[in-house]
Amino acid sequence: MAQHDPNVEAEIRETPPEDGWRCFERTGQARATCPCGLDTGMVPVSLAWGTATAHHVAAWP
Ligand SMILES: [Zn+2]
Repeated sequence: MAQHDPNVEAEIRETPPEDGWRCFERTGQARATCPCGLDTGMVPVSLAWGTATAHHVAAWP
């Protein structure tokens, strides 16, 4: 029986440093994955969350 543990990882990218600090910003893309093999690849954040949430609900009998 596969273990389900959906995870959403937001994509960030590094932007030019400001005052010597490294800067990052969200790209608006994210990736939903699950140990069972679910992997949406990079998709819009709302879709990644929607997929992970629906998957999590569907994973429970
Ligand atoms: Zn799963």
